[in-house]
Parts: sequence; C-alpha cells; structure tokens
Amino acid sequence: MKEKNSGLSRRRFLQGISAAGAAALLPCRFLMPHSAQAAAFSEQEYQVFRNACPRNCYDTCSIKTYVQDGVVKFIEGAQESTFTHGGLCVKGYAYPRRVYSPDRIKYPMVQDGRRTGNWRRVTWDEAMDRIARKVLELKEQDGSLLGLGLTKYSGNFGITNYGVEGMMSSLGYTTRFVGTPCWPAGIDAQNYDLGDMWCNDPEDMVKSRYIIIWGANPAWCSVHSMKYVMEAKRRGAKVVVIDPVFTQTAAKGDVFWQPETSSDGALALGMARHILDAGLVDRDFVNNHSVGFNEFADYLRANVTVEWAAERSGIPAQQIREVAEEFASADPATIWIGYGMQRHTNGGASVRAIDALVAMTGNVGKEGGGARYGHLRTWGFNYHALLQKQPEGAVGFVGGGGPKGDFDFTKEEAAASYTDRTVNINKTAQAILDTKDPAIRMLWVSCKNPFAQDFDRPKLEKAFDTLDLVVSVEQFFTETVSNSDIVLPVTTLFEEWTVNVSYWHYWMGLNEQAITPMFETKSNIEIAALLSKKMNELSPGSCTFPQEIDTREWLEKEFNQGIYDTFGISHWTDLRNGPAKARMASSASWHDKAFGTPSGKYEFRSELCEQNGHAALPVYKEGRKPYDVFRVLTPHTQFGLHSQFINLDWMKEYNKEPFIYMHPDAAREKGIADLDTVRVFNKVGEVRSRVKLTRNVAKDCLLMYEAWFGPESTFNVQNLVDDEASDMGAFKTGAPGVALHDQFANVEKL
Ligand code: SF4
Repeated sequence: MKEKNSGLSRRRFLQGISAAGAAALLPCRFLMPHSAQAAAFSEQEYQVFRNACPRNCYDTCSIKTYVQDGVVKFIEGAQESTFTHGGLCVKGYAYPRRVYSPDRIKYPMVQDGRRTGNWRRVTWDEAMDRIARKVLELKEQDGSLLGLGLTKYSGNFGITNYGVEGMMSSLGYTTRFVGTPCWPAGIDAQNYDLGDMWCNDPEDMVKSRYIIIWGANPAWCSVHSMKYVMEAKRRGAKVVVIDPVFTQTAAKGDVFWQPETSSDGALALGMARHILDAGLVDRDFVNNHSVGFNEFADYLRANVTVEWAAERSGIPAQQIREVAEEFASADPATIWIGYGMQRHTNGGASVRAIDALVAMTGNVGKEGGGARYGHLRTWGFNYHALLQKQPEGAVGFVGGGGPKGDFDFTKEEAAASYTDRTVNINKTAQAILDTKDPAIRMLWVSCKNPFAQDFDRPKLEKAFDTLDLVVSVEQFFTETVSNSDIVLPVTTLFEEWTVNVSYWHYWMGLNEQAITPMFETKSNIEIAALLSKKMNELSPGSCTFPQEIDTREWLEKEFNQGIYDTFGISHWTDLRNGPAKARMASSASWHDKAFGTPSGKYEFRSELCEQNGHAALPVYKEGRKPYDVFRVLTPHTQFGLHSQFINLDWMKEYNKEPFIYMHPDAAREKGIADLDTVRVFNKVGEVRSRVKLTRNVAKDCLLMYEAWFGPESTFNVQNLVDDEASDMGAFKTGAPGVALHDQFANVEKL
C-alpha cells in the first residue's frame, strides 16, 4: 500500500514518457529503464501498490503501481524480484492504456441478436436474473446442469480466478472444457522421461556454458529471461537457436538453425547418434540414474545416422556433428524446449528426443543444465475459490473420470456418484456440436476468447449458433463477445485482489486492489457471489457459492503453511513489501536425481509411455503429411497475448495492421510483390491481408502472428487452423494438444 520512501529515481522518466505517450517511440527496448536518465521524482506523491501480471506469459512480472487521486499514473517492474528486475515488456507498460481504454466494457450488456451489435445496457440485477432463470430452466428440463458448459483458460492466472470453476460447482455438476491448448504434448513427454514437468530456475542459465533455445522466442515472449541468456554469453557460453523463423532471439545467438518444421525429433536423434559415436555419453548418469539407455543406444545405431537427420531436417551433417560435440563437451549445457515445437502431431516424441539429449550428456539435475520446459512446483495454494461444493441433490455425469486439465488441482472424486462432464478444450466447436443427453445449450466464457484462440473459427461460429445462451465475462468487445447474448464487465488486475506465481520462474507476487473498480466492473468471484444471490432468491438452496464475499478474505484462504514456508514469509501481507522467491534446495530441478518416474530414475525406456500407446523409447515419429502448398505458422506476437493488448492505442502506434510474412522467392513464383494484398486459403477458411517479404521465413512457410486488432478487423489466424491433435497430452491433461503448427494453405494475390 502507501509507501513513504522518497528519493530520486528513473521513475520520473517513465512517468514523463507515459504522460507524453512517448513510450510508443521505444519499440524493442523494453528493459531500457536501467539506462534511462534519472530525473526528480518523489514516491511520497503517490500511493504505491503491488501488482502481478496475470497473463499467460513465462515472466509473470511483479509490478509496482503508482496511484494518485485514485488513478493509476504509471507502473514499473518490481526491483525486488531479481527476475522482473525493474522492467516490464511492451505489453506490461501498456496496462494503464488497457484500464483506461475508452473501448472497455463498462456495464453489463445484453445483445439483441448475436453479431448484430445491438447492445443495450442492463443492470447487474437484470443480467443475473436472465442468467439465473436460464440455469433453472436447464435444470428443470434436463434434470441436471450438464447442459451448462464452462470454457475458461488462461486470460487471468490470478489464483482467486479459479472461483469461476468454483461458481460452476456451486450450481451443480456441469460440462467443463478441459485440457490445454498450450503445452500438453511436452508435459506428457517430460512426465514419461522424468516423472514430472520441472525446470531449473531460469536465473541459473547464467551458469550455462552452452544454451540451445529450441522453438522458443524469449526476446519476444520471455523478455526477462533474455538477460540470463546474454549474461551467460558474456561469460563465454555459446547460444544456438533452432526455429523455423529467424526471430529476434535468433539474432542474438551464435548459431541459427532453420530446420524443416516438425523435423526436431530427427535433428535431436541425429545429434544423439553422434554423441554416442564420439564417446561423449555421460556414463555416470546413464549407468546410475537412468534406465533403458542401452536400448536407446541400440535404437540409434540401428535406425539413425547423422546423414539421415541432415536429410530430414535440412541442417548439414557437419553442423549437426559440431553442435552435438560442443553441447556434449560443455559443462553445464542446457536446452530450452519451447512450446511451439511440441504443437505438432509428433511434438511429444520430439520433446522426448530432446530430453534424451540432455540426459545422455549428464545435464539433468545440474545447475545451469536441464531440459527446461516449465513447472508447477510453486502452485501449492489451497484453491479455496475452486473447491466449492455442489448443492444438495445435484445430479451430474455418471461414471466420473475424464480430462482434468493442466491447472486443475482438484482431487480425484472416486467416491462421488456424480461428476462434471468433461470435453476436450481443443475441440470446443466439435464438442458443442456433438454433446448430447443433454446437449450443451448454455455457455459461460471467462478468462478466454475462444474465437481468437480456439481452432477452426468457422466451425466455432456454427457451434455457438446452436446455443440458447452465451455469457461472456470480458473487458473488450471481442469476437467471442460479439457471438454472445450477455457480456459482464470484469476487473483488470489493478481493480482486484489476488496472488500470482509462475510456471517458469520461482517468484510469487501479490496483486493488490490499487484503484476502485472502474464503471460497474466486478471480479470473477464477485460475479459468482452475485449470481449465487440471484439463484437463491429465485430458488433457495440452488447455489452454494457465498452471496457476499470480501475478496481480501478470499485471498487469505488461498494460503497455507506450506506456501508460507516455501516462500519464507509468515503471512501473505508480507508480500506488500515485495515479491518473494521460493526457497529451493538447488536451482536445478531433479538435483537429487530422485526422479518421479515409476523406476525413480530417468527413463530412456518408459513402460508407462508404451502403455499409453506410444513407443517406449524416444524414437522418431513422422510429422503430419502436408495437405496444401505452404506450411502456415501462427505464433505469438511481440505486442500481445492471443487477443490481449494489440487493440490498445499504444500498440497500434507501431503495429497498425496484420501482415502475412513470406519468402521473396516463393512470392515471386506466385506473382506477389511486397505489400500486395493476398488471400491465404485452405480447407478450414481464409485470411486476407497484406504481405511483407522477408528471408526470415523459410520458402515453404507463410507466417502470420496470432492477433486481434479490435472489432473493426476481421483478421483471425484461426480461420486457417483445424483441430488436428498432437501425439501426446492425454496422460496428464486428459486430452491431447493441437498440432497448430502442422497447418497448410495456399496463397493468391487479390
Ligand atoms: S506480458 Fe509477460 S513480460 Fe509482459 S508484463 Fe506481463 S508477465 Fe511481464
């Protein structure tokens, strides 16, 4: 809360540029405050609050928010976190533009006819009355609430936002869209190999002598991690970047490989074969801490050559040998496994091959080493908001089981006669169309924008058209809102209490309510309480969610002694002094070599993997057969996360419109020139936009960033992405991922 520190700092500079809008002139220099000229500034003039960026981003930044007269004047990264280190990314610095955007949804609204734009303001009471009556109608007609679906994912990772799931449980057993679009194949792969997904502290990358960044672009998507990469480089480490696109991260590397997309497994196995032949295997690790290495070695000798890997990947054999030898000889060496490279029909198999490379060189369980993918080791909250009880006599799905999802911390409900009905979040449209007895007729959408991030957008529109009622909880008029009947305005991070941890680093940050909620916005748990009140008014006992809540008290209920001990704090209010870092025995995951696998060792050969229908060994798996001329790549942009941020005025200053990026040679063959307008089309749909020619993209690829440019734009990459499944993910998250980088299309000039 209010701080009485005074002094001079660089913040005056930030305050100045935010007032002048001059930050828009600073693209790509997001961490530059350290080099900025300090000017007079007194914190005494402000109330200072702690916030935490709740976006689905590696960095989960701790934020300091400066408020004057109830208005957020400016923000900065918290200095106390060595990870955030005083800086935010371009998205983070744009937060105040989000809070005060004139485009923000201000009141509950009802749309008379989907996609008509005929929105009218209603009171919270009217909105809740309409929603509650529909819930009661479903229950009466179906005898259960399985006709009520919830689709929610990662729009706000603040822990109390799991109250949305809690609200659903409070109503009864419902239908849940579960699983994860993000990282399921890799999660399964790491579970088979290591027994869990657990990465080293990213801050220990400075100790690495060799870093391979494989299918990740931290210069855009984890800007704070780049300082560790660059520091390791400064200390003499070599950095190799492997990506189908020459990214800003690639520009910072020493070596860049642009392999054939989805040939990652072949490349990793080719490197493994050379390490084996060169006698560079870490015998202590494979003999004492692993099982199945000899079988893996036999597989490599019988099936893999460096020349084969070169042919598959397009990377010259000599380069494969060189990098393999350097990687195996460096101590420690690490591989950052990006989420992009597992979004393929062979993505899980590729991650297993890369894990094997790290393990056979003895780099697992070592500081500065590791097969870095992600972790959930610091997520030990109570999930009080999530774990709500169904009303007496609630009827649900008989049989239990089903997908659970990566961030689902509920315990198995083996003893319950009824459960929620679960359907695959990666097949949202198909699930709505297919689900019967009862059909899904009402959908609640929160922390998610399905039309921007779910696959096969045309099919999604058809599916939504079958629904009686769609309720969206949102901050902006997105395409999902346009396909809804009711929209409820939700708070931003500065208007609610919660707490955040990361799936990458080891810090925890408090999120304080820094300003009074704007307009009529409410947090997700306040909305749940309001709905409960209305439900009970209309039908006493129909919802068990509390009808009045103090959000600060709810935050308190998320903590336990284990969390306090892990983070070395005695109470959550200690976090008002700044974020806290988990106290781990070592910065290295698996430092004690006590793996979570059935054997307790690293498993080159995994029987569990075999039982689940895959090869026991990390073998090569063919990718999806191309069904059109170009491969379509739709990764995240620098300026947003899915549909968030890109619509803000600051972002539009230097990211005004979407482009399709294309190799000049491929464009010439199609008669396309720079900045021509083209149509990209395939069996799913089409996208129209202008082209930018660049040699950063392979000749057989079309690149377009996933983005939402606001209601006036129809650009949507999901018009080209089908819901083909990746190979793994069902074991730990209940449903496989989506092969969203195994998509193909053709292009023509308009
Ligand atoms: S989007 Fe990521 S890097 Fe940017 S402020 Fe949020 S957590 Fe930090």
